Amino acid sequence: MDKNVEKFMEEVISKNPGEKEFHQAVQEVAESIMPYIEKHPIYKRAKILERIAEPERVILFRVPWLDDNGEIQINKGYRIQMNSAIGPYKGGLRFHPSVNLSILKFLAFEQVFKNSLTTLPIGGGKGGSNFDPKGKSDTEVMKFCQSFMSELSRHIGPNTDVPAGDIGVGGREIGYLFGQYRKLKNEFSGILTGKALNWGGSLIRPEATGYGCVYFAQEMMKTKKETLKSKVCTVSGSGNVAQHTVQKLNQLGAKPVTLSDSSGMIYDPDGIDLKKLEYVMDLKNVKRGRIKEYAENFKNVTYEAGKRPWDIDCNMAFPSATQNEINKNDAKTLIDNGCMCVSEGANMPTEPDGIEIYLDAKILYGPGKAANAGGVATSALEMSQNSMRIGWSREEVDQKLHNIMINIHENCVKYGKDNNFVNYVNGANIAGFVKVADAMLDQGLV
Ligand code: NDP
Repeated sequence: MDKNVEKFMEEVISKNPGEKEFHQAVQEVAESIMPYIEKHPIYKRAKILERIAEPERVILFRVPWLDDNGEIQINKGYRIQMNSAIGPYKGGLRFHPSVNLSILKFLAFEQVFKNSLTTLPIGGGKGGSNFDPKGKSDTEVMKFCQSFMSELSRHIGPNTDVPAGDIGVGGREIGYLFGQYRKLKNEFSGILTGKALNWGGSLIRPEATGYGCVYFAQEMMKTKKETLKSKVCTVSGSGNVAQHTVQKLNQLGAKPVTLSDSSGMIYDPDGIDLKKLEYVMDLKNVKRGRIKEYAENFKNVTYEAGKRPWDIDCNMAFPSATQNEINKNDAKTLIDNGCMCVSEGANMPTEPDGIEIYLDAKILYGPGKAANAGGVATSALEMSQNSMRIGWSREEVDQKLHNIMINIHENCVKYGKDNNFVNYVNGANIAGFVKVADAMLDQGLV
């Protein structure tokens, strides 16, 4: 490791003990940024990276609620307001039993760079709870959301902080959260994105992360004069991002063959076409079932419990479940099996030594903060429509999303091109950093 990165990380680790996901995210960025900072000492003198690694504000709170048996339950609630130099804090809420301070700080940190990359005026934040919506009744989810928002409402606002969904927070949860905010504040304003269409949502927001991730992959493939037509694709997860990735892959003529959830994976060598995707959407979004049931419904499909899809032969991979789902061996297997492109729908799905394998093999690798930025970008488009009290058509939003992904790709190439190879990790980190760092310089000691 570079000496300057080592020294910087020693300080980050001593100030944030035990937060391993946060250390991992900061180190990845520091490794890209440090050589750039050495060449541009103005950022070094102003200790910009040191300041960016410290959240502007961390809010931690108790979330008490009553379950269907009348028992009191207590969860933890969090909001990390990481950086607002270029706009109001923006970033999702995650409800999952694994949620802790380290995971939310890593996500909030990544969000700062991602939001900057979108070219839209949004700062970075993230929040959530260790509440698990799985297996809870709608009433329990509603009671939890109401209690969570009773506290969160003190800290957010259309010009302060505008949360959205993430793992475990979809349309149902956003609805309950929004309802409680409106009731408490007696105010109808755009304080959340991912809202339903008939009360302030944007067309294409549910699709945006998956679509954007495929658009980004399309741009990467163009640099090799390749298209997505007939490419065999592995996809992990089966939630919002995975579903819309599969949809867009089908629309562009590719063949997605896998999906997964936290229990296991399915492999459908005939391809998960749009008809089969309809079944998955109903299974996951309405029935709230398990991906295993797909294998019981369609011919030629195998289900493997506890597995992820990285040893299936593919041309392209779209990790879309969660962080650290691809290790060094998985990365090696992907490449040995002919994978030429990895476009990350999830946040930080590849472990650092897996990323090294991609970069050494010089495959097309789009890190999450660039490849999945379409979701937050479209959230920002939802905020614009709310402010203007108008609604754009599906085609308009999709076109804007597509252009944003093309611009993000161009920016990554601008900062990450190294002879004939584009290092998208460096490209995304440096492009994201420069805009936020310059805003912080302009604004004095913030
Ligand atoms: P969903 O909750 O809709 O789906 C998550 C999927 O991943 C589910 O299939 C879930 O399985 C699986 N999963 C979650 N945790 C684990 C785990 N620990 N191990 C194995 N599988 C797991 O979430 P999203 O699709 O919204 O989010 C997926 C990823 O995309 C996350 O990394 C998120 O941060 C990222 N992302 C999402 C954006 C959005 O707009 N939604 C925007 C940008 C990034 P199960 O049902 O069994 O839990």
